[in-house]
Amino acid sequence: MGVDDADAIDPETCPTAGAMPMLGLGTWQNTGDQCADSVRTALETGYRHIDTAQAYDNEELVGEGIERADVDREDVFLATKVWKANLTGDDVLETTRESLDRLGVDYVDLLYVHWPAETYDAEETLSAFSELYDEGLIEHVGVSNFQPEQLEVAVDVCDAPILANQVECHPLLPQEDVREACENYDVEVVAYSPLARGAVFDQPTIQEIADEHGVTEAQVSLAWLREKGITAIPKATGTAHIRDNFESLTLELDREEVNAIDAIDETERAVDPGFAPWN
Ligand code: NAP
Repeated sequence: MGVDDADAIDPETCPTAGAMPMLGLGTWQNTGDQCADSVRTALETGYRHIDTAQAYDNEELVGEGIERADVDREDVFLATKVWKANLTGDDVLETTRESLDRLGVDYVDLLYVHWPAETYDAEETLSAFSELYDEGLIEHVGVSNFQPEQLEVAVDVCDAPILANQVECHPLLPQEDVREACENYDVEVVAYSPLARGAVFDQPTIQEIADEHGVTEAQVSLAWLREKGITAIPKATGTAHIRDNFESLTLELDREEVNAIDAIDETERAVDPGFAPWN
């Protein structure tokens, strides 16, 4: 089910990082008709940025959600990712076209290298991404899970500009070194698992700030990311979570609260596969 127009929050409320709205909807592990429904609900709530991936097995459903929503495709910033098994030059070209077919679109706004692993080869992979960029099938090139070392090489070899590096980031994993590298190379940071897949809800400092404002811990985590200039793509399935996260756009944290969250010394990495470059 969608939401009434009267309930929609003005998408203009959402700041942008270049062309990219700084709050998006994550869709990992959201499949079946529910996925199309969540995407539609998010767009009708005011979201204009949707994040999917070849590996999520839901590109078709994401496309269906966009199709069903009362929002023009050109107004949606749509991102997908090429899986680590598909990163040879030929496979990038072929599987990206398959992604576009599944999504039912002529282009995506952002195409990420999902992980610098398995078939990833900086020069070969990124020249295929640049070819797709030149052909107009992708509006922007992105990378994901890149450490400063991989980012340095990618920026050097990729002809097309790199818009963003999508990494896990939240108050329990602030990723200072990755953020600093991104800033040096003029690459936006997109935070995945911005709620630490639920771990931020039990963190006492975040709970305290949420109580003071009468908001949820999810909103505090998302507002903290926004204060840092980081784009966030929380995954939410039903209308209540989708709206709750969007409402974080109206939550302002003061300097003292941001500092208190910065000072949290608990660490949590929610996504940590053996093939990650930090392992
Ligand atoms: P997340 O967004 O940190 O957390 C999602 C969990 O929080 C879900 O269980 C969701 O429940 C719940 N939730 C969402 N909003 C809530 C709210 N307001 N109150 C209470 N609970 C709430 O985790 P994530 O899915 O790992 O990360 C977000 C997105 O990042 C993914 O969906 C995917 O698009 C992307 N991602 C990318 C990579 C990568 O390698 N590039 C890796 C991981 C994730 P419900 O679903 O029931 O609403």
